[in-house]
Amino acid sequence: MGDCRHRSGSTLRGQVPGRLRDALRAGPGCSHSGGEERLETSSAKKLTDIGTRRIFSLEHDIFRESVRKFFQEEVIPYHAEWEKAGEVSRELWEKAGKQGLLGINIADHHGGIGGDLYSSAIVWEEQAYSNCTGPGFSLHSDIVMPYITNYGSEDQIKRFIPEMVAGKCIGAIAMTEPGAGSDLQGIRTNAKKDGSDWILNGSKVFVTNGWLCDIVIVVAITNREAHSPAHGISLFLVENGMKGFIKGRKLDKIGLKAQDTAEFFFEDVRLPPGALLGEENKGYYYLMQELPQERLLISEIAVSASEFMFEETRDYVKQRKAFGKTVADLQTVKHKLAELKTSICVTRAFVDSCLQLHRVKRLDVATAAMAKYWASDLQNRVAYDCLQLHGGWGYMFEYPIAKAYVDARVQTIYGGTNEIMKELIAREIIHDQ
Ligand SMILES: Cc1cc2nc3c(=O)[nH]c(=O)nc-3n(C[C@H](O)[C@H](O)[C@H](O)COP(=O)(O)OP(=O)(O)OC[C@H]3O[C@@H](n4cnc5c(N)ncnc54)[C@H](O)[C@@H]3O)c2cc1C
Repeated sequence: MGDCRHRSGSTLRGQVPGRLRDALRAGPGCSHSGGEERLETSSAKKLTDIGTRRIFSLEHDIFRESVRKFFQEEVIPYHAEWEKAGEVSRELWEKAGKQGLLGINIADHHGGIGGDLYSSAIVWEEQAYSNCTGPGFSLHSDIVMPYITNYGSEDQIKRFIPEMVAGKCIGAIAMTEPGAGSDLQGIRTNAKKDGSDWILNGSKVFVTNGWLCDIVIVVAITNREAHSPAHGISLFLVENGMKGFIKGRKLDKIGLKAQDTAEFFFEDVRLPPGALLGEENKGYYYLMQELPQERLLISEIAVSASEFMFEETRDYVKQRKAFGKTVADLQTVKHKLAELKTSICVTRAFVDSCLQLHRVKRLDVATAAMAKYWASDLQNRVAYDCLQLHGGWGYMFEYPIAKAYVDARVQTIYGGTNEIMKELIAREIIHDQ
């Protein structure tokens, strides 16, 4: 009954509306309205319907309605403008903070909302259903914040978490370098001791939320003499405005146009001892602990984006005319839709089961890798087929499927490429023999 404990004896920071707050704090199992009688997506009218899936409860549905409204009112109308600007507005972050959409799955005694994992997942899903990839909320809330709460000192937690929950401090994580992505042990960014301070030098690339971020977790080498590179890596909290921390440029990507992905340079940045996150030389271990959640998140977004694309395409082919009938009347089209729906629903069942496992801390590295690889590959297949079913109009940005198609492409690359996911899965297979 882990989630029920949030109901009593805790105070919620921020200005989360009361009804919403109750919905967030009540997990499945606290409600009599969740469970077996709910439809799974395969039987629902639409794959994006509210009120479906056994893992959720009525409280989750209420919360989902409010999140859907948020994306419809506060994100969709402005997204085209943000795509031109290459970044979303800071105001949006603060609105999301006020609405209680940031740091949902962070314990309230740490300054978070104190909601359950499924409520966080609702925000990931609703953002995917909005087809708006600009706001980097999930990375901020469910990748960056957990590093701080899991490994940070009390001071670091107090200093950053409440501000991050309010959307006033935007978080990022910088692992990748121009010369090292998949092989993280090949990074060159390093921090050397100078008295009790650290001096940070190096560069990072492809940093999500990079341009807007106020705080970034930087992965750096701190012991070149360690018996393997993995034993000489540490994490640092580097703040925007520190002398020598230079944000290079917003990167020009083929998709995720409103996402402020950036590159960083560190030139003799002096970091106080309090900037070290967790213990010295334990950084690689922390990364390995946290990456399954990142991969689960990507798989969740991937299957949700697939559900969105399917529904867009179903609507389109039902009204588009060809040869005296609708495109949906053609048997090859009907079969294609049947194939797509089946693949998406099968994937949804697996990803929901991963969410259940992760909620009780039982999602292992290989299973998370399977979810990431499978769901992001599916997303790209669905994007390809759904665009094809739109014909030439699918190639035009005025149709949402065009944006969904380009935005899907990166999902097989970041969070560890799908080739690396197969390595992780294969390692377990061989290990078992
Ligand atoms: C839009 C975007 C946002 C990102 N956000 C972040 C972020 O916020 N923070 C961050 O740190 N990073 C981020 N990344 C970086 C991302 O995680 C890396 O791009 C990814 O890990 C791959 O690294 P690489 O680009 O260096 O490719 P490489 O490692 O050079 O890989 C090149 C190719 O070789 C393959 N390959 C490499 N090693 C193996 C192997 N052992 N077996 C089989 N094939 C292999 C890869 O699969 C790939 O196909 C982002 C990237 C993008 C594009």
